[in-house]
Amino acid sequence: MPKKLSAKDLEAFKNALTRARAAISGDMSQLQEEALGTGHSPAGETNPGDTSDGYYQEFNLELLQRDEQTLGEIIEALDRIENGSFGTCENCQKAILKERLKAVPHARYCIECQRKLEREGF
Ligand SMILES: [Zn+2]
Repeated sequence: MPKKLSAKDLEAFKNALTRARAAISGDMSQLQEEALGTGHSPAGETNPGDTSDGYYQEFNLELLQRDEQTLGEIIEALDRIENGSFGTCENCQKAILKERLKAVPHARYCIECQRKLEREGF
């Protein structure tokens, strides 16, 4: 059985997705508010070797495609967090690897299914 995501993981993904949604929808003021508002992680000094906590903060918004489709997928991912199905492949119902979710928090499919779908011209 693949490990289920912990509540802490879900919270981190939710934060990342919320920020991504704000970035794509152009709501930069919300982004800045959040950056200033949540002061529980120490600003500044980050050890590049320690990715345990800072990882999600570094979630690279620049890599995101800023388009309607990505925005829709992010909103759907946030819905899945709410209804508890986040992190489950929509195709095979297996858990999506956490590493994959860190790279693509709005991923709907596990890497195997994604590759398969891409091969089939999805
Ligand atoms: Zn799958």
